Amino acid sequence: MASVLAPDQLGPTVCVGEILVEIVATTIGDGFTEAQPLVGPYPSGAPAIFISQCGRLGGSSAMVGAVGNDDFGRLNTDRLKSDGVEISTISVDSEFPTGSAFVRYRKDGSRDFVYNIATSAAARFGWSDNVKALMDRAGHLHVMGSALSVPSAREVIDRAVDIVKARGGTISVDPNIRKELKLDPATEQRFAKLVEAADLLLPSGEELERAAGVEGEDNAIGRLFELGVKEIVLKRGADGATFFGANGERVDAPAFVVEEVDPTGAGDCFGGAYLTCRRLGMSPAEALTYASAAGARNVTIRGPMEGAGTRQELDAFISSTERRS
Ligand code: ATP
Ligand code: MG
Repeated sequence: MASVLAPDQLGPTVCVGEILVEIVATTIGDGFTEAQPLVGPYPSGAPAIFISQCGRLGGSSAMVGAVGNDDFGRLNTDRLKSDGVEISTISVDSEFPTGSAFVRYRKDGSRDFVYNIATSAAARFGWSDNVKALMDRAGHLHVMGSALSVPSAREVIDRAVDIVKARGGTISVDPNIRKELKLDPATEQRFAKLVEAADLLLPSGEELERAAGVEGEDNAIGRLFELGVKEIVLKRGADGATFFGANGERVDAPAFVVEEVDPTGAGDCFGGAYLTCRRLGMSPAEALTYASAAGARNVTIRGPMEGAGTRQELDAFISSTERRS
């Protein structure tokens, strides 16, 4: 059987979208309406976290986006570069500052965010000769739902899907649509089209049903395969993850037992690790083990991408950490 995902040798995994710094409240409570202790900046943005994990695991990878000509931007480009990610398609905006997200956890585990994305450098990039040259040699395109709320990212993704597919590359989609980021009807439609184009879908929780447009886990899985998706990995937080193959195969991966310090970025590291392992030739079951380790390890360290692991770090984590049964 032909592999579902294009091999690493075909060309880099490309991720397009918001590059941010994240600044995290160190106390638990409601929002930011009073002065409080904060820590950061940390490099962030769901697409950037995803591609950082790809690079750290040794997958060829490249990022398309923009930062400001400031320390927040340099923090991000330095990090991605040291992770092994190509950064030549990250543009540096001379006028607008790097995007940011402030986050504070509430008692019930939910989060309050203050974003500056739409009016930051994060939203100011687009199609260029440089980006086209990258897509012409890309092996895989990963789309983060969150990036669809950024018009510049939408334009790049729309064009890239056809180019990458035409050369035998593959597509993955993480719906990753926070309730704070509302989609207009046109974006909702674009999202539906992307789901149909996806070889791999990486939803978490209720995003599965939202992507399928039907209720119930089994119905949603069935519907997505009808639409042409080739494999689905459902993320369930501390309850683990499940792989579904189009041939009816199912693999359940129990979560590793860890102390959760900062849940942000777990899904992005999980996805980046899963995709990279698959493109490097691993089976779904093996890739799922690395992905579960990547997600779990990342929540043990404060900062959205601080816990993304190398192959060696994940091997050490896997051999030293218990799993739920
Ligand atoms: P994000 O908040 O980054 O969008 P997500 O909702 O997309 O996350 P999660 O399901 O939270 O994704 O996490 C992805 C995977 O990481 C889980 O399937 C699990 O394997 C692992 N993981 C996440 N949180 C924990 C935890 N507290 N303990 C152990 N493993 C975890
Ligand atoms: Mg997610």
